[in-house]
Amino acid sequence: MSKQSNAIFRDGVTLRCIACNYTTSAEPWLFLCPKCGNLMEVVMPSKNNFSWDVARKRRFGVWRYRELLPLSNDVEPITMGEGGTPLISVNRIANRGVFVKFEGANPTGSFKDRGMTVGITIAKSLGVEGVIVASTGNTAASAAAYAARAGLQCVVVLPRGGVARGKLAQALLHGAKIVEVDGVFDEALEEVFTEVVLNGKRDLYPLNSYNPWRLEGQKTLAFEIVDELEEPPDYVFVPVGNAGNISAIWKGFKELYNYGLINRLPRMIGVQAEGAAPLVRTWALKSRSLMAIEKPVTIASAIRIGKPVNWLKALKAVEESRGTFVSVSDEEIVKSMKDLAMYEGIGVEPASAASLAGYRKALELGIVDRDSVTVLVATGHALKDPDTISKYFSRGE
Ligand SMILES: *Cc1c(COP(=O)(O)O)cnc(C)c1O
Ligand SMILES: [Zn+2]
Repeated sequence: MSKQSNAIFRDGVTLRCIACNYTTSAEPWLFLCPKCGNLMEVVMPSKNNFSWDVARKRRFGVWRYRELLPLSNDVEPITMGEGGTPLISVNRIANRGVFVKFEGANPTGSFKDRGMTVGITIAKSLGVEGVIVASTGNTAASAAAYAARAGLQCVVVLPRGGVARGKLAQALLHGAKIVEVDGVFDEALEEVFTEVVLNGKRDLYPLNSYNPWRLEGQKTLAFEIVDELEEPPDYVFVPVGNAGNISAIWKGFKELYNYGLINRLPRMIGVQAEGAAPLVRTWALKSRSLMAIEKPVTIASAIRIGKPVNWLKALKAVEESRGTFVSVSDEEIVKSMKDLAMYEGIGVEPASAASLAGYRKALELGIVDRDSVTVLVATGHALKDPDTISKYFSRGE
């Protein structure tokens, strides 16, 4: 089935288990460690000829950092110019030095496009019929759009009634096949995982965030922050659901550091909604097994996840970076969404507002100070979830 999969990847790229360090060659279909069953991560070659000067002659976005991505230079990307999103200072609601990285400016309106351009490019090179994802909505919207562009089928597995209207509309618009399951996101993910990963079905390539190759696209968010600020920030706040993004962003910073392209590292702060905070709980109890939540509840549907598949990666990211996890209430999320919208003109969906809410919580708790250089990742666009806006925002108030 796979057309010379080794030619897809850059020389020297390997896969390593995040728990037992078992290492093997780059392989698009290996998601779980054959020794211990934990997740795999992509390891880039120890040497790299990346140069900011060369890169900056290219368009600002994911593929500007081509040498830092694991795909070989011969692979033609399936791209819509994703990434290259604005880093916006928010001086009316915070001190100088606080920025919002507005991922709503991506082609389908969320950071998922960064991972999808890489994931779909691999799927296309493999010669599969299509791709499959479980999703709270944005992964489905992104996969549907990029699959359409690549001429691949797209199957999305969604929690019935748990997907914001804008995201569902995008999946329909781009012609995805929609399968609804009763239950929360975690059950939808389980379904896809069993089918593809455990039963070894290989006609559809899975692009959830247990796929380490997809996360390679998402790490470019770190590259862009450094590219613009010309140094790493002190703190990065990231809304955490399945925990792939915070892991990927940290990996990006670490790789820049390992290649000598930056000389210090930021602290990563993961933000979860109070009713869906398995990692906040796990972190607080210093547990080495996940304290899952059976019925996650929050208005922020993109982070309504009780069993984050990347939980161990995220714990390690936060631990290595000497960061922490904080939780915020739905009221705090709505307040932050309102302030971003009314004082700064930045329209985000509820999950994205969690990073500002988390920053405010961290200030209160004395975890960060006001003058630190801080980036708040605003993961998705306001239009994703018009119903929440109608519910919480009144006309001309
Ligand atoms: C997917 C998503 C998240 C959560 O990202 P994870 O990688 O699952 O932690 C947060 N916000 C938005 C808008 C998303 O689409
Ligand atoms: Zn292992």
